[in-house]
Amino acid sequence: MPEPTEPTAAARRFENAYFADGLAQHRLVVKRCTACEHAQFPALPRCPACGSWELRDDEIRTSGDVYSWIRINREELVTDDAADLLPLVVVTVDLDDGVRLFGRYAPGGTPAIGERVAGTFVERRGATDLVFERAAR
Ligand SMILES: [Zn+2]
Repeated sequence: MPEPTEPTAAARRFENAYFADGLAQHRLVVKRCTACEHAQFPALPRCPACGSWELRDDEIRTSGDVYSWIRINREELVTDDAADLLPLVVVTVDLDDGVRLFGRYAPGGTPAIGERVAGTFVERRGATDLVFERAAR
């Protein structure tokens, strides 16, 4: 039996294309199980809740609550194309539609655990980022 290999860059792009394509259209898209409606991110080949192979793209809301956050101040900890974002605050958000994901936090802000946030789509260097800001509860 051959050894498992790492997915190629092309395969990775294909696996994540639905997400990047959604962001480019200012839509937050995840995979949702057609059998049990479990939402997942990042995408897996099958549903981790029920095992079904039947998944569909589903647009979800960008609203949620801050689960955790960090502030990055050191240039050597980010890629060159993110150096202009320092200090960079990255939040982990429990979205209302059942997915936890990372995103930038509004520049200059300091989030709080449990804070209510909503994401906006921001164009930057030919791509679309999801940037979270404080929102009304
Ligand atoms: Zn399922």
